[in-house]
Amino acid sequence: MMEKRLKAYTLFSSSSGNCSFVEYGSDKLLIDAGASAKAINDSLLSLGSDLSAVRGILVSHEHSDHTKGLQVISKRYGIPIYTSEKCMSYIGVNSPDAEEMLINVEAGDTLHIGDICVNVYPTPHDSVRSFCYRLQAGNTTLGYATDIGHISDAVQDAVFGCDAVVIESNHDLFMLENGPYNATLKRRIAGKKGHLSNDACACLAPVLARCGTRSIVLAHLSETNNTPEKAYEASRSKLREYGVTIAGETFAADLRLAVAAPKHIVTVIE
Ligand SMILES: [Zn+2]
Ligand SMILES: [Zn+2]
Repeated sequence: MMEKRLKAYTLFSSSSGNCSFVEYGSDKLLIDAGASAKAINDSLLSLGSDLSAVRGILVSHEHSDHTKGLQVISKRYGIPIYTSEKCMSYIGVNSPDAEEMLINVEAGDTLHIGDICVNVYPTPHDSVRSFCYRLQAGNTTLGYATDIGHISDAVQDAVFGCDAVVIESNHDLFMLENGPYNATLKRRIAGKKGHLSNDACACLAPVLARCGTRSIVLAHLSETNNTPEKAYEASRSKLREYGVTIAGETFAADLRLAVAAPKHIVTVIE
């Protein structure tokens, strides 16, 4: 029998659409569904899976970049949706069938989706209710935190010590300050309940490395106020400052650092 391993991929990741896929043998789940059912299904097909095999969708919060595919997916595939009661009224899943698929989740909960165990933590974000996650299957752990205004204690609890971590690296502070957004929006994004900057994310990277993380994927990049190069370079330089070596740069590297892409699959762990 083939050994089961926890695998995770970002399928879509940017401020305009987010969806990730996690699998452990036949247990498969999505984190967020911020792309069309067809786009998500096509993406899953290229990983040898499809939406009909998905056992659950963890919905981090109600914002449309995390939920826009949900209505069609829940209607067509009847997949259980795990989110807070507060978010449910916002996510447009309003057929009676779909309502049955909604499973109320609150911070502090532990979910079991097949053999995948999910611990739910609150995030500091300007939504009605928002979560990040720590997933475990077999001996492998995955931390997943996007849409975080800052690294709160709960976010640390979710990600510290995980083998692989998907973490927000939303904006370059200079680009945000000098970019096209109005002052209110700039303040919202940079605020304690907005989005995590490249610099704030980069400060966390060496701590993650020291706690044993072997793969970091920078996610939820702003398409207006960031570039993949800037996000990568911010974390890379902090890691190097702390003597952490990165795959691709030395032979026996401490960890792998990657940037999630808006519309194609990036491996987090496999
Ligand atoms: Zn959000
Ligand atoms: Zn978002």
